[in-house]
Parts: sequence; structure tokens; C-alpha cells
Amino acid sequence: MNPSLISSPVVALKYLQGYPTATLAQVAQMLQQDKVADWLLQKYPQAHTVRTDKALFEYVQALKQDYLRGADPVNKVLFDSKLHVVKNALGTHTSVSRVQGNKLKAKREIRIASLFKSVPDEFLKMITVHELAHLKEKAHDKAFYQLCNYMEPGYHQLEFEVRVYLTHLETAGARLWEAS
Ligand SMILES: [Zn+2]
Repeated sequence: MNPSLISSPVVALKYLQGYPTATLAQVAQMLQQDKVADWLLQKYPQAHTVRTDKALFEYVQALKQDYLRGADPVNKVLFDSKLHVVKNALGTHTSVSRVQGNKLKAKREIRIASLFKSVPDEFLKMITVHELAHLKEKAHDKAFYQLCNYMEPGYHQLEFEVRVYLTHLETAGARLWEAS
């Protein structure tokens, strides 16, 4: 059993705050029995193949083209190794206003924590959908999650699984997928 789960269950499950108690109990049990790795690897055997910031930019643009064509253009997309996942609520989206000539133009940037370089495609899609939805909806409210679901019908389950994986990383340490 992992000692951190006994001494401080709340801290260990900080990525899963807000989920029902029964769900948290189930996750805690899986962590204690070291079953999270098998569960996730069985469901998602392989990592995605998006290796570079350029490839990530294209991946993001393709999703945006399919679902959010009318939203502000995204100028820059990158994997960021300095990004702390929890502090930044899984990723960041910034809008920097710059004066261009006499016009004020919004420059949109999406940064994705570099741990998402070695995850399954489904997890990369979840985080990308999340960040793209912020182009239209700033808060994590009903409209925001409706937009996430529109882009990825399995969004809620995927966000849950990503949060379970983050909890696994914090309590057990080792990454489950190698960047392919
Ligand atoms: Zn967010």
C-alpha cells in the first residue's frame, strides 16, 4: 500500500476533487491495489505519435477546423515542460493583445504540459478539446463542458481517466506510456 494514501488521502486525490465519494473510494482502492496501471494500459495500449510542437500545432488546427472554425485563430501551440498540470488546470490558453498598425489583434496561444507527449491519443484529444473550448468559453461552466462534449462525446470519461492517471503519476511515479 502506498503510504501517502494512508497518511493523506485528500492530498493524494487532489486531481479528483468534486467527483462523488463512491468514485473516489473506488479510485483509492485501485491505487492501493496497484490496479490503475493495468486498467489504463489495457484500455489504451499505445501512445499517440504527435512528437513535435509543429505536429501538435497541426493536430490542434485539424480539430479546430472540424469543430470551431469560427473561433479566434490559434497562432501558437506547444508542449511546455515547465507547465505544472494542476496549477494550470491541465493546460493553459492565453490571449495576448498586441497592437498591429492601428488595430488591436488578439494572439491566441495553447500550451500543453509536456507529460501529454507520452499518453494515448484519447488523452491528448481530451486536453486539446479542453483548451480549444476555452477559445469560446473562459470558465469551467455548463456551456464550456457542452462544447467539450460536442468536440469529443467521451469527454467526461476521458477527463476522469486523465485525472486518475495524474493521480497514479503522483502516487506511484512511473509513466505508463513511452513516447512512440
Ligand atoms: Zn480549463
